Amino acid sequence: MVHINLLNRVLVADDDPAILRLLESLLQASGYEVFSASDGRQALEMIERHQPSYLITDWNMPEMNGIELCCRVRHLDLPSYIYIVFLTVRSAEDDLTAAMDAGADDFLIKPLRRDELMARLGAGARILRLESRLSQLAALDALTELPTRRTFHELLAKEWQRSHRYQLALSAVMIDIDFFKPINDTHGHPAGDEVIRGVVRLLRRNCRRSDLICRYGGEEFVALLPETDEASAMIWAERFRRHVAEMVTVVGNAEIRATVSLGVAQMLADMEEKSELLSLADQCLLAAKQRGRNRVESAKSLTAGGSLSPTGGSFGGSVLDGVAAREAMIPMVCCAAADWTIQRVTAHLLQYQVSSVPVTDPKGNLLGIISEKDILVVAHTPEAPNRRVDEIMRANVITFDLDVPLARVLSCFIRSPIRSVVVTSQGKPCGMISRASIVRWFLDNRWAVRLIQRGLQKTATATETAHAEANSPTNLPDKNWIAAEALARPNGQDPSLESLARELAQMASDLQSQLSSNSTTPDMQPIAGSASRMQALLDELLAGAPTR
Ligand code: GH3
Ligand code: MG
Ligand code: MG
Repeated sequence: MVHINLLNRVLVADDDPAILRLLESLLQASGYEVFSASDGRQALEMIERHQPSYLITDWNMPEMNGIELCCRVRHLDLPSYIYIVFLTVRSAEDDLTAAMDAGADDFLIKPLRRDELMARLGAGARILRLESRLSQLAALDALTELPTRRTFHELLAKEWQRSHRYQLALSAVMIDIDFFKPINDTHGHPAGDEVIRGVVRLLRRNCRRSDLICRYGGEEFVALLPETDEASAMIWAERFRRHVAEMVTVVGNAEIRATVSLGVAQMLADMEEKSELLSLADQCLLAAKQRGRNRVESAKSLTAGGSLSPTGGSFGGSVLDGVAAREAMIPMVCCAAADWTIQRVTAHLLQYQVSSVPVTDPKGNLLGIISEKDILVVAHTPEAPNRRVDEIMRANVITFDLDVPLARVLSCFIRSPIRSVVVTSQGKPCGMISRASIVRWFLDNRWAVRLIQRGLQKTATATETAHAEANSPTNLPDKNWIAAEALARPNGQDPSLESLARELAQMASDLQSQLSSNSTTPDMQPIAGSASRMQALLDELLAGAPTR
């Protein structure tokens, strides 16, 4: 967005009230809007608040002098340039040089002469107009007059913060014209430009004032839709796709038709960086291209559709064949209820040593997820402990059914910045899969065994060699190394892990007897506690599995 500078706003900084009054009346009489500060520190605050175009400053002032003020202003990240004029009794040549070195644009010596001041400000206006024109040119793309990618990132930062603060939905749509190169090749570059302009016209027509659109690359655009969830963004994207498909660009005798592919993503609960939103939308765009173009894909369709590798192939013939999501899942000990207080859910997270927990309705259906981070955001407010969980939880969670192929979950992790997903069975959460839990699954014995079965290691001699090499810093292919490790330790366990395993087995048997002695109305609290400790032990065991 281009900042519209009010070219008549002046801040005057002087510790002499008489000078301030004089400057105020002179400048106001000439149509300037005037703000005054009696020292450098106050001036600095007013600059950030009122964003004046000019600063007329004295040199000697209490708190912060004019030179320091000048240096500080030049280090601020302001939306537009400030024209700084010194007005001082100091008249030595060194003073002028010092002021200019500190970042001043002009230097006037008291006593103040009205005409000279007005003439100097007039010269300043010419510089400011030029600067504003230059930044407009840099902020807008020449062909489409849309914001450039750089400007877009600045606007996105603001929208991202606002959506976080007020817990509003935010969606991004990546748009790319299909087979655009052949359009250029067949009809020429100017015709291609016309098609781009046509697509942008449609974009503008289809967007609300609050939407942000930009030219992200050659024939690629991004639309940021505030207060819009993925489902609504999908409807918007689908409508826009249809409009482009119906568009005909006439250039000379040629009637050119074009289509677009779109990737839709919504800000998700565990996204920390705004770039993750764009990256997810980009992955969805890639999926739209891979699934045939002239179509819209969203994060939801990424998780529901067939598995796609980063290059478009599938994981056919891999160790994931026949493996369901449940295998890499960390089972859920206990969910939080929507009407729990923040205090209660915090105690829950601490007790079970987890960083987030799904939130369910009274029937056990998934409503959202609440994490330590969500709690930290509101923790400082006095009412925080008694607020309800469903007031601050995040509803936009990616879910997978227990029985979907693990390959699909993996594909989602590879293709998007998501850190964890909730595993459900008939809409009820039963576990979580994180990047870490998938990695652990790979480190699990079964993986190594599968590799061995595939004949990656044929003889014990080869194993010994491989194991020896694995312990040396040479580059041995990963698969050989893992298989060698597994063969060298037939149980797949480090002896130091045996005690952990025994403890785990003991706890399992204790839990079983606890359950059978309590069969009619089991007290869930201690049972959940044991299960959680077992989970922690299991994690430790898995973490102790062979690593390089
Ligand atoms: P896909 O469906 O996979 O997106 O195929 P594509 O041909 O659209 O994609 P590719 O990225 O291969 O080609 C994009 C082309 O867009 C290449 C580039 O010359 C052209 N292009 C980029 N900017 C402009 C522009 O401002 N005007 C014109 N006319 N062409 C442009
Ligand atoms: Mg393209
Ligand atoms: Mg492209």
